[in-house]
Amino acid sequence: MIFVKNPDQIRLMKEAGRITGEALALAGEMVREGVTTKQLDDCIRKHIEKCGAKPSFLGYGGFPGSACISINDEVIHGIPSKKRVLKEGDIVKIDVGAFIGGFHGDSANTFPVGRVSEEALRLIEVTKESFYRGVEAAAKEGARLGDIGAAIDGHVTANGFSTVKKYVGHGIGHDLHEDPNVPNYGTAGRGVRLCQGMTIAIEPMVNIGGSGVKELADGWTVKTADGTLSAHYEHTVALTADGVILLTKVC
Ligand code: MG
Ligand code: MG
Repeated sequence: MIFVKNPDQIRLMKEAGRITGEALALAGEMVREGVTTKQLDDCIRKHIEKCGAKPSFLGYGGFPGSACISINDEVIHGIPSKKRVLKEGDIVKIDVGAFIGGFHGDSANTFPVGRVSEEALRLIEVTKESFYRGVEAAAKEGARLGDIGAAIDGHVTANGFSTVKKYVGHGIGHDLHEDPNVPNYGTAGRGVRLCQGMTIAIEPMVNIGGSGVKELADGWTVKTADGTLSAHYEHTVALTADGVILLTKVC
C-alpha cells in the first residue's frame, strides 16, 4: 500500500532529509586516502545524533553500521570497518539514512578517492545523470513508475553501462522502505501512476560491466558478479504541487 503524505508530513520529511543530506556531505568531505570506512561511519552517526535524529540503518535487520559504505566493485550494503582503509584510485559509495519526527530520509553518493580512472569518473557522472533523468520523468504530468526506470536505464545503457536489477529504489516515509518498489529499469507508460504526496527514494546502481550481483558471506555486502566497478546515487524525493522536491539535497 502506498502512503501518500500531506504537506505537514512532507515538511517533517524535509527535516529528516536535511539531516541525512548534511551527514552524507560531511562524510564526503572526509573521503581521502588513509581514512577508514569506520571513521566515515562515526562522522555520520555523530552528526545525525547531534541533530536529535537516529541513524535509520543502525540495527535495521541487524545492520551494524550507521551508514552503508561500499568500495569499488561493492555495489551496496558494505559494512563500515576499521580494517577498510581508502586508497588512492578507489571509488567509495556512502549511503545514509536519518529518522526524526516520525520520518526517514535516505540518500547516497559515490566519491572518488584522490585521482581515479577516467572510466570511474564517467561511471560516477553517468549514474548521477541517470538519477536526474529519472527525476525529470517523474515530474511529467501523468507520469507512471515505469517512466522513471525507463529513463534511468535508457541513459545508463546508452553510455555502455548496466543497471543493477536485483536491488531497486522504494517508497519512503514513516518506514525506511515502503511501497512502491522503484526499479531503475522498466517500460515507459507502465506501472503505478505517480501522484502528489508520494515520497520515493530514486537510487540508480550502475555497473561498468554486467548487471549481475552477488551477496557476500557477511550477509550484507553486495558486489558486482563480474568484479567491475559500481556506482550509486540516491535522493529521497517528494512529488508535490510545486513539482518534484529533492528532500535530501543540501547544496
Ligand atoms: Mg540509501
Ligand atoms: Mg534507499
